[in-house]
Amino acid sequence: MSVPRVVVIGAGVVGCAVADELTERGWTDLTLLDRGPLFETGGSTTHAPGLVSRTSPSRMMQAFADQTIAKFASLEHFDGPCLIDVGALEVALTEERLAELHRRHGFTASWCFEGRMLTAEECVADYPILDGRLLLGGHRTRGEGIAKAVRAAEAQARRAEGRGARLVGGTRVTGVSVAGGRVTAVETEHGPIPADVVVCCAGVWGPVVAGYVGMILPMLPTEHQYAITTPVAALVANRDADATLPILRHHDAGIYVRDHGDRIGIGSFNHRVIGLDPGALDEAAERGADALVRPFTPDDFAAPLELARTLMPALRGVEIERAFNGVFAFTPDGYPLIGPSPDVEGFWVAESSWVTHSVGVARACVEWIVDGAPSTAIHEADVARFEAFELRPSVWVPRAETAYREVYLVHHPADPHERPRGLRHTPFHARQVALGAVFTDRGGWEAPRWYAANEGVAGEIPPLDAWARRWWSPAVIAEQRAARERVGLFDMTTLPRLEIAGPGAAAWLERMVARRVGHRRVGTVVYTLLLDDRGHVRSDITVARLAEDRFQLGTNGPLDRAWLAWHLPGDGSVTLRDLDGSICCLGLWGPRARDVLAACTDTNVPNEAFGYFTTQELWIADVPVTALRISYAGELGWELVTSGDRGLRLWDLLWAAGQEHGIAACGRSALAALRIEKGYRAWGTDMTAEHTPEAAGLEFAVDLGKPDFIGREALLRGEEQPRRLACLRLDDRSAVPTGGEPVFAYGTAVGYVTSAAYGATVDAVLALAWVDRAQAGKGTTLAVGYFGRRLAATVVGDPVVDPDGARVRS
Ligand code: FAD
Repeated sequence: MSVPRVVVIGAGVVGCAVADELTERGWTDLTLLDRGPLFETGGSTTHAPGLVSRTSPSRMMQAFADQTIAKFASLEHFDGPCLIDVGALEVALTEERLAELHRRHGFTASWCFEGRMLTAEECVADYPILDGRLLLGGHRTRGEGIAKAVRAAEAQARRAEGRGARLVGGTRVTGVSVAGGRVTAVETEHGPIPADVVVCCAGVWGPVVAGYVGMILPMLPTEHQYAITTPVAALVANRDADATLPILRHHDAGIYVRDHGDRIGIGSFNHRVIGLDPGALDEAAERGADALVRPFTPDDFAAPLELARTLMPALRGVEIERAFNGVFAFTPDGYPLIGPSPDVEGFWVAESSWVTHSVGVARACVEWIVDGAPSTAIHEADVARFEAFELRPSVWVPRAETAYREVYLVHHPADPHERPRGLRHTPFHARQVALGAVFTDRGGWEAPRWYAANEGVAGEIPPLDAWARRWWSPAVIAEQRAARERVGLFDMTTLPRLEIAGPGAAAWLERMVARRVGHRRVGTVVYTLLLDDRGHVRSDITVARLAEDRFQLGTNGPLDRAWLAWHLPGDGSVTLRDLDGSICCLGLWGPRARDVLAACTDTNVPNEAFGYFTTQELWIADVPVTALRISYAGELGWELVTSGDRGLRLWDLLWAAGQEHGIAACGRSALAALRIEKGYRAWGTDMTAEHTPEAAGLEFAVDLGKPDFIGREALLRGEEQPRRLACLRLDDRSAVPTGGEPVFAYGTAVGYVTSAAYGATVDAVLALAWVDRAQAGKGTTLAVGYFGRRLAATVVGDPVVDPDGARVRS
C-alpha cells in the first residue's frame, strides 16, 4: 500500500483535527465526511460555548488540553482568533472547596502551567460582578480560555484541504464495508468511498457508526443545559466584545460561566441526568431535525440559576434570553475513547472528546495509526480498557450517568463506583463479610479494602488528616503488621490472569516480553515487562511456565490482553485464554507463610525445594493449586491459584492452619502500603507508556542480551529521560498524597507524586514520585505540595524495606 486511502467520518472539532494531523504526516488521500453542512454541522461542536482549561488530576487530560490550546492559539481563521486567552477562575465558597482548589492548584505546578491562588479581593478584581463577601478564595489560571470551536474545526480542515484532502458535507454515512477482516469502503447515501483506514469521529453518533463494524462504544449522549442572559448593566462596556472575563467555575453550584459581550452564558451540570439513545438521535438527524438542540427544561435550571444570581448579584435583574439543552457524550469514567477496532483492521475511533481535549485526542489517534503508538501515555483513554461486562448497558450506563452528575464534585482517587455494585464476588466473599470487610470495586469484583475485625489490634496509629482518612482504617496498620510479622491472607483474585499455550507459545512470548522466558525450565516464574516499539513500559507482568507449551501470565488488565491478542500469530500456533472468573487466588504472605502452607500440603516447601520465583502444582489437602512463590507484599510466601469452585475450601484450610501462626485477612489498602515500602511499582499509576524501564527503576526486568523482543532496538538507542522515579520519605506523618501532587526543589517544581501510603514498618509516609534526575539522588531534600502546604521530604533508598530481598528469598 503506498499512501493509504482514509475516510474520516465527522467534521466536528475532532474529525477536523484528525484530518489536519493525518495530512500533516503525509496521509493526504483523505476524505472528511459529514452529514451536516460544513462546518456548522449540527454536531456538538456547533453548540459548544468553548470553555477550555487544563487543570486536571490526569496527566493525560492535561496534555490533551495543552495540545489543543497550543494549536488553537496558532490557527488562523478569517473570522478571528480560534482561542481567546482570558484564563480561568475557579471560586470557593466553602473551606472544603478551597482545600480542593489548593489541590487543583498543585496540578498546575505538577504539569507545568501558570496558576495562582487568589484572595477573595483578587477574585473580585479579576471578575468584578462577583459578590466577594461570599468568597473564601479562588484559583486563577492563564494561557487558556474560550475556544471558538467551529472556527478551529474549519481552520484545521482547510489546512488539510490545502494538502489534498477532500471535504464533503451533506453526505450521510450508512455503513462500513469489510472484507477479510479489513475495512474496504465507507458506504454513504451517495455511494461507496473506498478506504483502507476509517476514523470514526461521529461524536454522539459514534456508537451508531462504530456499530457498523460491530464495535461497542460505551458513551451516553447526555442533555446539558446552556443559557444566555439578557444584557447585564454592569457589563455594558463589553457590549461589542466577545469574551473578556475569565472562564468562571463555581463547582459547588455545578455551573460554569462565560461572558458573551454584555451577556452572561451559564452552563449547568446541576440537573438530573437526561441520557439519550444514539440511535434515536441518528433518526432525528435523518429527519433533518437539529437533533442536538433539545427543548430547554427550565425547572432543571432554576436551582443553578439562583446559585449563579447569588454569586453574581448583577444577574438579579436579568432574564434568560436564549437557552437550550445541548447534547454531548459521557463515558463511564469520563475519559475519551481512542483506538482501533479489535475485530476489523483499519477501523479506528476518536470519540467522546470535549473541545478542550480535541487536538490531543486526534493526535494520539493519528500517531497510533501512523507511527504505531501515541506519544502521550493514553491508557486511560484506550478504547480497549473495558472488560466485556463493562460494555453491557446495565454496567456502563449508570456509571456514565454518575460521571455526568459528579463532574464537578470533589473526588478522592480511592472513591469506588457507587453503582452498579456487587457485579462479581470472589469465592471468599462470605468469609470476608464475616470478618467485617469494607469493600471497594476492582474490575467489577467486590474487593476488601480492610477488615473491621482487625481494627482493635492496630496498636499505635499515625495522626492522619481527614483526606488521608477518607478511605482508611486502623485495621490497615494491623494488616500491614500481620503480613510483616506473622502471616497475611490476601484475596488476589482481582489480578487478571491469562493462559498462553500452544506449540509456538514459548517462541512467541520470547518476542513479546523483555526477559527470557522461552528457554527457562518448567516451574520458573519471571517478572518482566511488555514494551512498545519505543522501548516504553506498556505493562509489567509475571510469566509462569507451567509446561513446555503452557504459560500463566499475571497481568494488569484488558489492555494487556488486547495488546497480546493483537500480536498473536495468525497460524493458530499460540492460543490466549482469559482465566478471569474461572479461577481465584489467595496471597499467603509473611514470615510464617511457609509454616501455614507446610501444615496443609504434603509437598515439600522449604526454600531448597520451592525457591523464590518458581511455581509448582500441589495439593492443599484436597484442593489442587498452582502455587507461585512470588509476593507483591515483599514477604516470604505464595500466590495460590485454584478453580473458583474450590476457593472457599482453600480459604478455610489456610485459615484453620494459620490460626496458630496469627494469620490475618488483609485488604488492598495494606497491600498498597506494603508494596510501596518494598519499591514495587503499580503500572498505570507509577509508570506508564510514557516511561522507559531505566527511568522507572525497572532495568532488572529487561534482558538486553536477549536477541529479539519488542522495544529492544529502541532501548539500545539509549533514550535518557529527564526524570526518574524516586521514593520520598515525608517528615509529616499526617499527610498522605494521593497522586498528582507537585514535588519542589528550592521552590521550583521538579516532578510529581504518583502514589503514596503510610507504611507501618517504617512508621512514615512514603511516596513514589517522578523527579528531575538532578534531584533524584538519595538524601536530596525536597518538598511535596499538599493542599497548599509544602511537606518536607527526603529521597530515600528504594526499596526502603528489605532492599537486598532477604525476606522474600528466606
Ligand atoms: P461533533 O461536533 O458532534 O461532530 C461529529 C460529527 O459527526 C457531526 O458533525 C455529525 O454530523 C457527524 N456525523 C455523525 N454521524 C454521521 C454519519 N452517519 N454520517 C456523516 N456524518 C456523521 N466542550 C468543551 O471543551 N468546553 C465546553 O465549554 C463545552 N461546553 C459544551 C456545551 C454544550 C451545550 C455542548 C452541547 C457541548 C459542550 N462541550 C464543551 C462538549 C463539546 O462540544 C463536544 O464534546 C465536542 O464538540 C465533540 O466534538 P466531536 O467532533 O467529537 O463531535
